[in-house]
Amino acid sequence: MKVLVIGRGGREHAIVRQFAKSPSVTNVFAAPGNDGMREDAEVIAIDEMDFAGLADFAERQGVDFSFVGPEQPLSEGIVDFFEAKGLRIFGPSKAAAQIEGSKAFAKELMKKYKIPTAGYETFTEAAAAIAFIRQHGAPIVIKADGLAAGKGVVVALTEEEAVNAVNDMLEGQKFGESGSKVVIEEFLDGEEFSFMSFVCDGQIYPMVISQDHKRAYDGDRGPNTGGMGAYSPVPQISQAIIDETFTEIVEPAVKAMASEGTPFDGILYTGVILTENGPKVIEFNARFGDPETQVVLPRMATDFGLFIDTILKGQPAQLEWDNQAVLGVVIAADGYPETVEKGALLPDLAKLSGVEVTHAGTKLSNGSFAGNGGRVLLVSASGASIQSAQNKVYEQLETLHWDGFFYRTDIGWRAK
Ligand code: AMP
Repeated sequence: MKVLVIGRGGREHAIVRQFAKSPSVTNVFAAPGNDGMREDAEVIAIDEMDFAGLADFAERQGVDFSFVGPEQPLSEGIVDFFEAKGLRIFGPSKAAAQIEGSKAFAKELMKKYKIPTAGYETFTEAAAAIAFIRQHGAPIVIKADGLAAGKGVVVALTEEEAVNAVNDMLEGQKFGESGSKVVIEEFLDGEEFSFMSFVCDGQIYPMVISQDHKRAYDGDRGPNTGGMGAYSPVPQISQAIIDETFTEIVEPAVKAMASEGTPFDGILYTGVILTENGPKVIEFNARFGDPETQVVLPRMATDFGLFIDTILKGQPAQLEWDNQAVLGVVIAADGYPETVEKGALLPDLAKLSGVEVTHAGTKLSNGSFAGNGGRVLLVSASGASIQSAQNKVYEQLETLHWDGFFYRTDIGWRAK
């Protein structure tokens, strides 16, 4: 089969690599891809938002199916566009992608179908939002309604911080349109994990769970980021909790989307917090998580290409997972998640051994890789336990000099 992967980040590199490993797949194309993907895919210079260009390419090449990585093309209807042309593509329709694209939509869905989540109110006026904050006190969570690349969430530990976040979003236009409405949520305390599932025609195939580290610095301190590292499995979350998450959250959510007339196909990502009162939803995403994908997909023991092809046909499929643990550490450019300088040269990645490098924001410059974004790449290893995978990654990272870049030194510290 020929497969087209749409996107350019680390998540897409992991998707590309998993297809490249599939015996059923002969050609992997990545559009627009990145330079680091070139050993696993043919990189095609078509932007992920150029739907006509992508569809035309898929048609001309006889691509068997396309697979979408990032949220923006999904929210803007790439799946509807391809399907209207009779092209096979794996992902949610524009209507179904609202489960991620609008936090207010997701919260209303959960309320209506009694899916456990934090209590909340939605506001467009700063004065009303601030009154609500004064009434409830801190800690409290402020979220921009629309897409904000994983950065539109402020977990405010004081009322002042909460008020500032509301003012930034509603008055200061910090997130443009995405922040013209805010959701204010009850603060939930507990262990977090990411539960991703393949969904097609109402069938749900859960993946193994993972945990990412969202804060920029060691000890889970500093600003929220897109994610600084991740690992799978998550030994501190029991199988009973995973099963409860499936039956109380994931299954009801998929049924709810169908009942609402917006059936969900694609990757349903559920961000979960295990509270004293059981697992509760933090957020739904309509696609793979980054960097969770980089530690979950390598554990897949099934032919990925064949699996997607089979479920797209509406046929029942098998999905098997490896018992090995995988842990990955993100290398970010100095300054991330604020402004970063692009172009710093990376050390010689070929010197790393026994680890996998997944490229996110890199560029080839005179035969060497240079940084080309905030999160630059991820280095991962597998092992019999989280600790052994962690040791392998950090031993290798310490063999190189990362001038102009930084990474957390404690990814996996919560694993027990
Ligand atoms: P999100 O972008 O919705 O995943 O939120 C980013 C991070 O903010 C999550 O991974 C949590 O650590 C935190 N967060 C979001 N919502 C809540 C909540 N209601 N209570 C506590 N922490 C939260």
